Amino acid sequence: MMRFKQLEPRFVKSIPRELELGVLYVSMEYGTVVHGCCCGCGNEVVTPLTPTDWSLTFNGEAISLWPSVGNWNLPCQSHYVIRSNKVIEAGAWNKAKIEAEQRRDKKGKAEFYAQVDRQPDKSPAPLIAAAPAVQERHAEKSIWEKLCRWLVR
Ligand SMILES: [Zn+2]
Repeated sequence: MMRFKQLEPRFVKSIPRELELGVLYVSMEYGTVVHGCCCGCGNEVVTPLTPTDWSLTFNGEAISLWPSVGNWNLPCQSHYVIRSNKVIEAGAWNKAKIEAEQRRDKKGKAEFYAQVDRQPDKSPAPLIAAAPAVQERHAEKSIWEKLCRWLVR
């Protein structure tokens, strides 16, 4: 049984240390979504937004997450789908199905990141990962400029 049948989306810069239950915290800054488990156990559930993890859709009012949230590593083992802020209980998975999904997830990630490595220019890596590189390049340029100015003198 789900104690929380509905979640309130809350866009935040960073995820607070103390989670309010029934709130779906979305941090675009960190590309992650965090909420307290909807069964009511309150354990922290982190669903990173990446091409191989979760995707989020927001229609201006309600949030949907895909795929489902399976808390296999929590004692409650709850499994649900978040669609339009609503928590839809999904069936429990047995050990074999959980292991099969973990293998599929691992394989999918390995394939995805191998592809990214082969095509560095077409990398769909999130902007957040690109940001530090851009800053470094600027830093390099300014050092270079300083050196040039020094050489000219
Ligand atoms: Zn739970």
